[in-house]
Amino acid sequence: MSDRDPRAELASLSAALEVHLEREGRRGRRHLAAPAGPAAAASPPAPAPRPAATPEPAAPPRAVAAAPARSAEVAGPGSPAALAPGCADLDALRQAVAGCTACELCQTRKQTVFADGDGSAGVMFVGEAPGADEDDQGVPFVGRAGQLLTDIVVKGMKLDRRDVYIANVLKCRPPGNRDPRPGEKDLCTPWLERQIELVAPRVIVTLGRHASMHLLKTEASMGRMRGRVHSVGGRQVVPTYHPAFLLRSPHMKRDCWQDIQQAMELLEGPA
Ligand code: URA
Ligand code: SF4
Repeated sequence: MSDRDPRAELASLSAALEVHLEREGRRGRRHLAAPAGPAAAASPPAPAPRPAATPEPAAPPRAVAAAPARSAEVAGPGSPAALAPGCADLDALRQAVAGCTACELCQTRKQTVFADGDGSAGVMFVGEAPGADEDDQGVPFVGRAGQLLTDIVVKGMKLDRRDVYIANVLKCRPPGNRDPRPGEKDLCTPWLERQIELVAPRVIVTLGRHASMHLLKTEASMGRMRGRVHSVGGRQVVPTYHPAFLLRSPHMKRDCWQDIQQAMELLEGPA
């Protein structure tokens, strides 16, 4: 990025993040855990990556396929794998996702959380799964971690949040913010794959270990995955730390900023 001074950018993002953290600290909120990065081992045990669960309201029972065993029923009639490829645009895909009952998460969600932002954005962020705030609002990354992601986009990348596209691997909130199960991810992935095809971003930034491992199909640690550009199905993927992890481990912001700068270079570089 020829026209940016990296030091100034880093200072500005760091300052923005510090303000964010201080503000959160003043509110007396506790920092949340995130998918384990290399620093996680050295950090005290912490709660789940998404906001703490409030008691689940009793959801009306919905028809649901038998609890998904890994890969079972993944391509059956009415499954995401069967329906997603036929969705001609993002609106059709959003509607199809809204009616999805392929896995048991449909029984506990308030609503599906499809995406936020510009469907023709150059950069797409992919997180793990909606938390309580996202389940309430139907929009990804609107809780505390989402605020930090917004700061990264707005103050770091100097973009509007509406100029990027934000989605998750899973479209429904796992109850109590438990980790998504492999069978759920397998079932849900065709929605994300179609989303990626339709948005056709120049660069995908995976947020945190779970989303990164899922897209890159590796069990490697975040520390091993990040710091370079991966190619997945011909697309450039830049893995970085989950904002919830950064809230708890602010010293990792510098690495995240490097990753974001890498993504910006790809965004601005030749196609
Ligand atoms: N964490 C995620 O991975 N996704 C969200 O949408 C919110 C928090
Ligand atoms: Fe369907 Fe995905 Fe929601 Fe499961 S998590 S019900 S597969 S949209």
